[in-house]
Amino acid sequence: MDRSILAQGASFDLEDVDQRVQTLSRSTRYDRCCHRRNDDSLIYSASGRDGCRIRLFRTLFTNECYHQCGYCPNAGTSNGCSYTPEELSDLVVRLRREGRIDGLFLSSGAGRDEDTTMEGMLETVRILRDRHGFSGYIHLKILPGTSRDLIEQAVELAERVSINIEAPSGDVMQELSPTKDYERDILERQMYIRDILARRSSGSQTTQLVIGAAGETDLEIFHRVVKEYREIGVSRVYYSAFVPLKGTIFEHRTPQARWRESRLYQLDWLYRVYGMSPEEIKNAFDDDGFLIDQDPKVTLARESLDWPLDVNEADLQSLIRVPGIGPESARRIISYRRRNRIVCPSDLIRLGVRRKAIPYLKINGWVQKRLF
Ligand code: SF4
Repeated sequence: MDRSILAQGASFDLEDVDQRVQTLSRSTRYDRCCHRRNDDSLIYSASGRDGCRIRLFRTLFTNECYHQCGYCPNAGTSNGCSYTPEELSDLVVRLRREGRIDGLFLSSGAGRDEDTTMEGMLETVRILRDRHGFSGYIHLKILPGTSRDLIEQAVELAERVSINIEAPSGDVMQELSPTKDYERDILERQMYIRDILARRSSGSQTTQLVIGAAGETDLEIFHRVVKEYREIGVSRVYYSAFVPLKGTIFEHRTPQARWRESRLYQLDWLYRVYGMSPEEIKNAFDDDGFLIDQDPKVTLARESLDWPLDVNEADLQSLIRVPGIGPESARRIISYRRRNRIVCPSDLIRLGVRRKAIPYLKINGWVQKRLF
């Protein structure tokens, strides 16, 4: 047990709170936006307001939950543990004072009802902000079905809020978590958050999906993700490959291969960072709507790129579609070409291009004979 998480001087039973810290912090391990696999530490590194790295204390407010999500160890828990707002705010303030954290990631089970639990979470944050003048970063989970006035308060108090959609559609949600109404409890809440954020100059929302617990295809996921970025305006989507846990409703289901999660992140990157269109990206899926275990950028390049691509002529949009060339190295190539001709692979390597790009390129009339 990481007893050093607690400092001296608390006004309540340290032993008892320490146990809850362990239980409630470790319960956040299934949240991809605050967790790396095989990392059980209670403090994690995240991207802060300006993109710089910050340390967040991550925890649930309670692990009690009336929902019946098949993959979750907290489903149907009524005798778990919780913090009081006083306890949790006190703990966060002391960790911050000791220089061990920069902020808080606060999630929670729904408890007996989402509004009562959300009020406790908000009270914690209010104590931090108003009583202690806490200016650190706060990421608050919004519980599905939370009332609108509480959502408004959450957006007001936190730098980032998120509500996990978990599933790409209402049908899949019925299979994953029959106690949640996908449209009403989740999508409508996301849109409400979007509308509040549109009136503000700061703040963002993110979301997360469980992958592979209910037979959904990657294409279904991708369609939903595109809507999340375009219509909801989330800043990030996180993916969590399904792992059957002992004691959960889905404990006997087959685990999802980890590569699927990685391929979805790569696909997300192609859409979000490279700016590829959904029309172009659809070629990455097989006839059944699934990705194969290969970088989707490679799949797309082999399917659609008109290669070999003349590296001395190609435009930026063509260059960034070549596996091994990213937006930065593509820009360096264009800039270099203004005064020089690229005559050999080592010119490209010096510009940050990876070797795997070479088979796709024509370099000063030369094409590598051996493909891929
Ligand atoms: S809402 Fe579902 S995933 Fe979240 S704590 Fe409750 S049972 Fe677990």
